[in-house]
Amino acid sequence: MSAGYQRPFAATGGLRLHLNENTGGCSPGVLDAIRALEAEDASFYPEYEQVVRDTADYLGIPEDWLLLTNGLDEGILAASVAAARTRVVEGGGVRPESLVPLPAFDMYGVCTEAVGATLKTVPPRPDLQFDEDGVLRAIGPATRLVFITSPNNPTGVRVERDAIGRIAAAVPAGALVFVDEAYHDFCGDTAIPLLPRQPNIIVGRTFAKGHGLAALRAGCVIARPETLQPLRAIVPPYSVNICAAAGLRAALRDRDHLTHYVDEVRKSRDMVYRACERLRLQYWESGANFVLVRIGDRAADLVRALAARGIYVRDRSSEPGCEGCVRITAGVVEHTRRCLTAIEEVLCGTR
Ligand SMILES: *Cc1c(COP(=O)(O)O)cnc(C)c1O
Repeated sequence: MSAGYQRPFAATGGLRLHLNENTGGCSPGVLDAIRALEAEDASFYPEYEQVVRDTADYLGIPEDWLLLTNGLDEGILAASVAAARTRVVEGGGVRPESLVPLPAFDMYGVCTEAVGATLKTVPPRPDLQFDEDGVLRAIGPATRLVFITSPNNPTGVRVERDAIGRIAAAVPAGALVFVDEAYHDFCGDTAIPLLPRQPNIIVGRTFAKGHGLAALRAGCVIARPETLQPLRAIVPPYSVNICAAAGLRAALRDRDHLTHYVDEVRKSRDMVYRACERLRLQYWESGANFVLVRIGDRAADLVRALAARGIYVRDRSSEPGCEGCVRITAGVVEHTRRCLTAIEEVLCGTR
């Protein structure tokens, strides 16, 4: 039994480039909305009518295709519970399986274990590109859930929408394909257009990354109403608190804030790429607000040396296929610049 998710350390006041957070903060409108709450807003159970309407409008979907969650993590947990509840008839009572192509976001494994399902992983390709054939081969009668992350975390690699469609068509009846689009804002890719014809797909989104609401906890899952029904029955009725609900509405209204951050991300990613080329380091082109860089043998030393300077990046060396790799958040340009300067100093021994 694993101990669940391991929280990475960062000292207070440091430059946090290890969790893909928006290091520029949320829209000021979010704080105004929270300040404008009144005593009864805190003492009454929250109503979600307005925030559901605003979020569905923002996403361009009908309201009954949307379920707001306490961060996308809760959506992942709810899908895991829903999948584990369906009995596997074929195969003589074997445990339901969740399929995860590696390397992957930690929570799929954590949630699969938490609900007592079996985690089946697909090993990474050497180039870390999405292994559609590997996933198709790994699908079996016990498959109840397939996690696909696009762009992927920790690689930033995007998955073609048609590949997702082919996988959704290949899973057994009743199985779900969960498309985690936590980093949608930074590339625009989405599987939502597949939903009308492929009702076994669930799309997950978070407002933690682009909109900077990580601490408020605001995410959602999107699917056809009949697909969402089992998840609605699992997520507690007041899971999203009033600060998150009010803050989310304000965040969605401030489109300029998001546009500005996405623009910073584009510039930052390019800066990381150029630095990697100067330093002759391998990197993966990213559709997200981070870049995976292969440092090699010195990865752990680099992470330590940066931490000593108050800059936190994430050592991903222990992830399959990511030996010697660190993941660096590429958001606010000024923060990226500070990090890259420090990396060049450490690796080139200029100071
Ligand atoms: C950050 C992240 C999440 C979690 O989002 P929250 O809304 O903070 O729970 C989910 N999936 C991936 C791939 C992520 O990187």
